[in-house]
Amino acid sequence: MNKKKKIFVMGGDGFCGWPTSLHLSQEGHDITIIDNLSRRNIDNELEAASLTPIQPMGTRLATWKELSGQSIGFHNIDIAEEYERLLQVIMEEKPDAIIHFAEQRAAPYSMKSPKNKRYTVNNNINATHNILCAIVESGLDIHLVHLGTMGVYGYGTAGMKIPEGYLDIEVTSESGERIEQQILYPTNPGSIYHMTKSQDQLLFQYYNKNDNVRITDLHQGIVWGTNTKETKLDERLVNRFDYDGDYGTVLNRFLMQAAVGYPITVHGTGGQTRAFIHIQDTVRCIQLAIEHPPKRDERVMIFNQMTETHRVNNLAKLVSELTGGEIAYVDNPRKEAAENDLHVKNDLFLSKGLDPITLEEGLLREVTDIAKKYAHRADHTKIPATSTWTKDQQPGIPTAQ
Ligand code: NAD
Repeated sequence: MNKKKKIFVMGGDGFCGWPTSLHLSQEGHDITIIDNLSRRNIDNELEAASLTPIQPMGTRLATWKELSGQSIGFHNIDIAEEYERLLQVIMEEKPDAIIHFAEQRAAPYSMKSPKNKRYTVNNNINATHNILCAIVESGLDIHLVHLGTMGVYGYGTAGMKIPEGYLDIEVTSESGERIEQQILYPTNPGSIYHMTKSQDQLLFQYYNKNDNVRITDLHQGIVWGTNTKETKLDERLVNRFDYDGDYGTVLNRFLMQAAVGYPITVHGTGGQTRAFIHIQDTVRCIQLAIEHPPKRDERVMIFNQMTETHRVNNLAKLVSELTGGEIAYVDNPRKEAAENDLHVKNDLFLSKGLDPITLEEGLLREVTDIAKKYAHRADHTKIPATSTWTKDQQPGIPTAQ
């Protein structure tokens, strides 16, 4: 095993953060979760809940200790608002690495109202900036691993493979000389949420250049699946599964809709192509990122953390074939091209030994182990997407139920 590290997991109560915390603890690292439980409060606000019965943080941590013998620490801190407390725990516990999941991550929720737009901007940009500022203030050499999104690239790339963060360009100087350069791949965010992730990239570039902070930015695809090796050990460790119109990500939403006999709702033509990764591969990629930090004077390391791309329409057909569920086409609440291709480079993780779980092998297990098992907990009124990107759009609600 690699050297045991002290790791802070910001947002460690969330969908990606919880299984990552358990996996790294299982690997022998010393984990502290920092989370203000805002995601659970948003569940209360939306009157929606995880399809799976997630337990309070205290029960989660006590169960993990009982099963593994490992303690995971926990601080309830709002990292966007409570800078001094954040700095204090960093100074006291001196982490080797910080993994940053702690942002409002739903594009539809970020577009719901002016209040939601402003909350998402304040929360996400301040959270990222406070972590960077506190790392510099602490004087410690902490490796920051951030969860970004493939969505910052926008979804139209003129048939080119999206590189891992940096684009090779050639410019002509005043004297007519051709000069080659690498620049951050220009962002093209499609929602307020994606816009905050684009801003994060500039914060990383700046703090890396100015203060030599070591940063790995993982541009992640849409995560599907629910459990990992560790969360499967006991039902009290189960991971969250969002299916409501704001937080339910496309493939998990399809699986759940099919399992409860609700039409599989495709937005628009379903011609949009998206990048995907299974939650088990998410935790494995983060482990690889932690084990391979960039050097102190190296630029921000950017990985495309995805394993396959699919057209939404084809996914709906796949789920329908597996389950017999019917497909319903509804208006697209997003402002985006009806169809797009997406070609992505992900050589960096593959070169470090990632062996991806494919949709083909994992999908059916997910339907039976999770979606069907917990179907009785579903509130069908929470399934339709009600947030729209502009005021003149109507939410798309299927007629058949
Ligand atoms: P999540 O909402 O389930 O988890 C985020 C966690 O962060 C929650 O537990 C929340 O309470 C906490 N949090 C938010 N703001 C905070 C603050 N100010 N202070 C302290 N804690 C705070 O989201 P997730 O699906 O686990 O996503 C984690 C990260 O991965 C996000 O940054 C997201 O953008 C990125 N990502 C997720 C996906 C996906 O499909 N889920 C895809 C690409 C990227």
